[in-house]
Amino acid sequence: MLPEFDLLRPNTLPEALAMLAEHAPDVMPLAGGTNVIVELRDSHKSPKMLMDVGKLRELCGIRRDDGHIIIGGGTTIAELLTNRLIAEHGLPLQQAAAKLGNPLVRNRATVAGNLVNASPAADTAPPLMALSAEVELTSQAGSRRVPLAEFIVGVNKTSIRPDELLTAIRWPTPPTRSAAGFYKIGLRKADACSVINAAAMIVWDEDDRCQQARIAIGAAAPKPVRAREAEAALQGQPLTDDVIAEAAQLAAQVTQPIDDIRGTAAYRRRMAKVIVRRLLTSIAQTLNR
Ligand SMILES: Cc1cc2nc3c(=O)[nH]c(=O)nc-3n(C[C@H](O)[C@H](O)[C@H](O)COP(=O)(O)OP(=O)(O)OC[C@H]3O[C@@H](n4cnc5c(N)ncnc54)[C@H](O)[C@@H]3O)c2cc1C
Repeated sequence: MLPEFDLLRPNTLPEALAMLAEHAPDVMPLAGGTNVIVELRDSHKSPKMLMDVGKLRELCGIRRDDGHIIIGGGTTIAELLTNRLIAEHGLPLQQAAAKLGNPLVRNRATVAGNLVNASPAADTAPPLMALSAEVELTSQAGSRRVPLAEFIVGVNKTSIRPDELLTAIRWPTPPTRSAAGFYKIGLRKADACSVINAAAMIVWDEDDRCQQARIAIGAAAPKPVRAREAEAALQGQPLTDDVIAEAAQLAAQVTQPIDDIRGTAAYRRRMAKVIVRRLLTSIAQTLNR
């Protein structure tokens, strides 16, 4: 049984922001509902009001603008799978989308919902961190941009204010000499939450050495984490097996995993090293194609 709530149905973003300004913190945005409805059913949350943001055109669309890829917060996971801009400039996000839930979930679930829900295992977070994404948060007072790595602050906790909506996510178009990827281990190959996941992006210099590296790991700490020591170890290096092995070892050290029903802390830490090594190896192989 669902608890009782009032349902607000704004038609435009200004209408939605006015409703939030009037009713926050008693109103909760509802996008695809794939987290919210489950939580209501399990009585983990009982908001007085839900506000359906699923019809807001301002939260839709994927575009390229001023050297950035910008996706509306209401972009569904399914839309990421078929979009050309995402395939060209957001490959790790597209790979994560292909592994998120099942087709029914992907048709409803949105990127904003995945990020605001802030599960440590959220599949879109590490790829977006590897791409250096920022989120755009909008209230009646205006918009602000926050780096995704700062936006997620803990388990199911973000820095969004009750009167704000996550209206867009944006990242710089990756340089030509770059490659990126995402890797996930779940208990099944499909429709399974991440036991551990990771994304990485490498930018090469003209000598095929790593000019810039970004590695993010999910489901291994209260929030997705950047593996900064591993990134530093890659800087200026060719991606040889030895360099990759050292970076993978360092990456595993930033994890603070827990034992839970999906796996032990020891397994997660071990697999963090394995998947970062696999990711960097497959990224390195793209150089020779
Ligand atoms: C069967 C099943 C399998 C799943 N598998 C996976 C998986 O493999 N990987 C994974 O990462 N997740 C998975 N999920 C979780 C879920 O599908 C995702 O987190 C999804 O992206 C949530 O998006 P939504 O649009 O449904 O969010 P909702 O449930 O509508 O909302 C989630 C949260 O975000 C807030 N919110 C939504 N939109 C906005 C906005 N624009 N601005 C501000 N706040 C907003 C809501 O208030 C709520 O707090 C699964 C869920 C189910 C039911």
